[in-house]
Amino acid sequence: MPELVHEKSTKTTCPYCGVGCGVIARVGDDGAVGVKGDPEHPANFGRLCSKGSALAETLDLDGRLLYPEIGGRRAGWDEALDLVATRFSRSIAEHGPDSVAFYVSGQLLTEDYYIANKLMKGFIGSANIDTNSRLCMSSSVAGHRRAFGADTVPGTYEDLELADLVILTGSNLAWCHPVLHQRLAVAKASRPEMKVVVIDPRRTMTADIADMHLAIAPDGDTALFNGLLAHLVRSGAVDQNYISAHTKNFVEAFAAASALDLPELATATGLTQAELRDFYRLFETIEKVVTCYSQGVNQSVGGTDKVNAILNCHLATGRIGRPGMGPFSLTGQPNAMGGREVGGLANMLAAHMDIDQPLHRDLVQRFWGAPALPAKPGLKAVDMFRAVADGRIKALWIMATNPVVSLPDADAVEAAIKNCPFVVVSDILRETDTARHAHVLLPSLGWGEKDGTVTNSERRISRQRAFLAAPGEARADWWQLAEVGRRMGFGQAFAHTSPAEVFAEHAALSGFENDGGRDFDISAHAAIDRESYDDLLPFQWPQPNGAARQEKRFFADGGFYHPDGRARFVAVEARMAKAASDALPFTLNTGRVRDHWHTMTRTGKSARLSGHLAEPFVEIHPRDAQEIGVADADLVMIESPYGRVIVRALVTERQAERNLFVPMHWNDQFAAKARIDALVAPVTDPYSGQPASKNVAVRAAPFAAS
Ligand code: SF4
Repeated sequence: MPELVHEKSTKTTCPYCGVGCGVIARVGDDGAVGVKGDPEHPANFGRLCSKGSALAETLDLDGRLLYPEIGGRRAGWDEALDLVATRFSRSIAEHGPDSVAFYVSGQLLTEDYYIANKLMKGFIGSANIDTNSRLCMSSSVAGHRRAFGADTVPGTYEDLELADLVILTGSNLAWCHPVLHQRLAVAKASRPEMKVVVIDPRRTMTADIADMHLAIAPDGDTALFNGLLAHLVRSGAVDQNYISAHTKNFVEAFAAASALDLPELATATGLTQAELRDFYRLFETIEKVVTCYSQGVNQSVGGTDKVNAILNCHLATGRIGRPGMGPFSLTGQPNAMGGREVGGLANMLAAHMDIDQPLHRDLVQRFWGAPALPAKPGLKAVDMFRAVADGRIKALWIMATNPVVSLPDADAVEAAIKNCPFVVVSDILRETDTARHAHVLLPSLGWGEKDGTVTNSERRISRQRAFLAAPGEARADWWQLAEVGRRMGFGQAFAHTSPAEVFAEHAALSGFENDGGRDFDISAHAAIDRESYDDLLPFQWPQPNGAARQEKRFFADGGFYHPDGRARFVAVEARMAKAASDALPFTLNTGRVRDHWHTMTRTGKSARLSGHLAEPFVEIHPRDAQEIGVADADLVMIESPYGRVIVRALVTERQAERNLFVPMHWNDQFAAKARIDALVAPVTDPYSGQPASKNVAVRAAPFAAS
């Protein structure tokens, strides 16, 4: 076990999903760690799910990377950091700043993310920093920016409890955001009038509390919500005063939404006309509606359009920014939102500013005292690894993520990393699928060892606090980045000595020359000292300097962030579902299971968590199973033009016919041929760059080991 630091309770935050639950960790006299939910944390009020409850079972040092390594041999920090700085500087000198890249992660703390973004965009002079959150919620970011003029989540978790109708589309809340699901289930049990609608091709556990489950065809969401907008107009349920006073482009959006009649909508969505009518009538007649959406909406070549189709319906009815009303994007990772705040995406700047706005670039450049800021967005995740493959990227630093397992066309990603001239990996583990191809390995701090902040799906910033000593020579990611920045000659800009100093700078930038007109503003904390940072209680942004109270919701006054203060309807075109081909007759959907997290580097350590679902599987409808000749627990080979996996059949009527579901967690370390992202095509949404991991054309057949 890690060495004991002190024997008191420490309030911290769960490192798994975007619910961001408060955790109390206690280290006993014998070094054993215990965890329980923090009853005072506003995200969970003491609840924890199975993953959060098992956190203490994932803290052993087996497999940990404890010392820097160069080419497989142990090295000192100075030697390793000097080498990283030298190789990045040389690549920049010989091939320009766009020849280097950082690929970061929603697992990083905000302070890590801030320094990474500052180094790449402010001082290296490239925007080639992107994050695995690109795979999770970037379509929501793009949709928010199109509609609201900024990437702003209007509501709070409390809205799910206050609503009379909660729509969950593309979200298996019960397994992917379990504590929020518990809050919803409790609210529904206490208020029989509350209705829940679940829209998902699978009948997931989330659907078990639903009054209506709509087994929508893959990518049918834009048609569904376009049809809803047209229905709301025709039934007189839109708020014309709100539309006139606070929005633009309604006529164009309505025209696009009216393109399909009811029979065509039924074809495009895979639903019956009666199901469509029933759903539309619920939305029409119930005012307090929250529409939650997650990866099932975002991970699509039409993900941004789907988001805007949802936002259009809330704008048309003025149901936004009010208690129990609004669209609600659920983030997957613990700090996907924090990454957005500091510009961790290749197309954004720190403090939610835009890279393509000269005023924003000038402001950030002056605040940092930076030599130059890139004027154009950098490479988004999928394009970044294409650039690694074709040799444009010559030095790559990967932090806290495992792209060889998690990116689409994962075999090609692995080949690209193998051939990259210089790869640095910062991680807590020595032997990830990605780390084994690194030239330099840098040991990072894990949960319970590192200090900083994370932001959850409802914009709530909470502290992660250390209660264990750093094992071996592991150091914080922000420190590694700042050291490399200093060694590259950017001295003063990276003189931070603590995460508190980084957070204070981040908070100051959020309010720098801000007249109150920016959505992300936490400048109330710009002068925070170490003691106050240590004691920081969870809070929601915005918290501008001098503000008397904390706003819970955005857009309550009908004001948005476009220059004229109006929200934008976006005219979006519904795609008709593509007919399956004889060669690839199934549609593959990928996603999470309840008790594992990402590539299982932590949850795989807990026997209890692994006991829920012990191995990778494919959910297949009984008629499809019979047609291809497999029975429950038989091995099945699933192939796409990009790769293949071999998993066990889980024959279930919860799965729609001609659709398959395979979880994304297992890699080749845990099971032979189980990296499901090896099958996913590297095609992306044109606005967000998010890959389409929910709609993959595949074939399936019984597998017989030879
Ligand atoms: Fe952790 Fe999410 Fe579970 Fe809360 S719901 S305990 S944040 S995994």
